[in-house]
Amino acid sequence: MMMSTPPNCCTLQVLGLEKPGQDQFVHLILEDPGWRWTPGQFLMLRPCAWELDPFGARPFSIADVDEQGLHLYVQVAGRGTRRLAGLEPGESLTVWGPLGRGFVYDQETPLLLLAGGMGLAPFVGLIRNHLDPLRLELLFGHRQDVSCYPFAELEKTTLAWHFQDVCPDDLRQLQEVVRVKIRNYAAEGLVLACGPLPFLRMVKALGAECRARVQISLETTMMCGVGACLGCVVQAEGGGNLQTCVQGPVFRADEVGLGEE
Ligand SMILES: Cc1cc2nc3c(=O)[nH]c(=O)nc-3n(C[C@H](O)[C@H](O)[C@H](O)COP(=O)(O)OP(=O)(O)OC[C@H]3O[C@@H](n4cnc5c(N)ncnc54)[C@H](O)[C@@H]3O)c2cc1C
Repeated sequence: MMMSTPPNCCTLQVLGLEKPGQDQFVHLILEDPGWRWTPGQFLMLRPCAWELDPFGARPFSIADVDEQGLHLYVQVAGRGTRRLAGLEPGESLTVWGPLGRGFVYDQETPLLLLAGGMGLAPFVGLIRNHLDPLRLELLFGHRQDVSCYPFAELEKTTLAWHFQDVCPDDLRQLQEVVRVKIRNYAAEGLVLACGPLPFLRMVKALGAECRARVQISLETTMMCGVGACLGCVVQAEGGGNLQTCVQGPVFRADEVGLGEE
């Protein structure tokens, strides 16, 4: 079992809360905890007002930290996230982070960013803080209306496309575009991906087909975020286990097994 160095645990206030489009999406702005972090790292959070239900904290990607504060983008998935959507400015949360290993890249290498749904969140900070965002290309697949996600600002600074996936034909089209793009980046670039498991399976398979260097960030269910509870174990490619919280959530695509469809 791997234990990371103890994360910073703090109490942060909600400074702002926006609901773009629908009640299913929340942009949370918290006080700046003053962390050094890299895109792909995450935090665990739990509102102080939660008693024992829900019991556990929930993991979210650190989207960015700027003069406004710490930005998180949350899609309602179940009980915990539904309650997060009901937070008000001034409420306090227990937060620990920055956790895990983020994406590994340098500012010179051309990057293809592949995001599915709320897998867009870690790329917000990556794009905003990159020295040369024109070296980046973003492909974003999503189910809900694009206005629900923090996409509009990103397409102003980098080369970005989005694809709404409503029927099987849309998925096939997305797959074809991803294949062509990965092929273009295979020789000299790097592919970074974050999103739901079926999306990452597709990226992993196409990356192997094109012999591209691919890193994927997993959104595995997790409880403690610090390597203690073993709730986020995934299979390593070739045998053995990996703990997503401390050894990931970002892995080389060829080191982690994503199971079958
Ligand atoms: C490293 C990491 C970064 C993430 N970043 C974001 C982000 O930026 N924005 C965002 O909207 N979501 C993100 N997620 C997913 C988010 O943590 C889950 O959607 C959330 O924890 C669900 O909690 P719930 O109580 O609402 O759902 P539940 O009622 O507990 O379950 C509803 C669904 O969510 C899944 N789920 C439950 N708990 C977790 C969990 N702890 N981790 C992952 N999935 C879970 C369940 O399998 C189920 O399908 C991230 C997950 C990880 C591991």
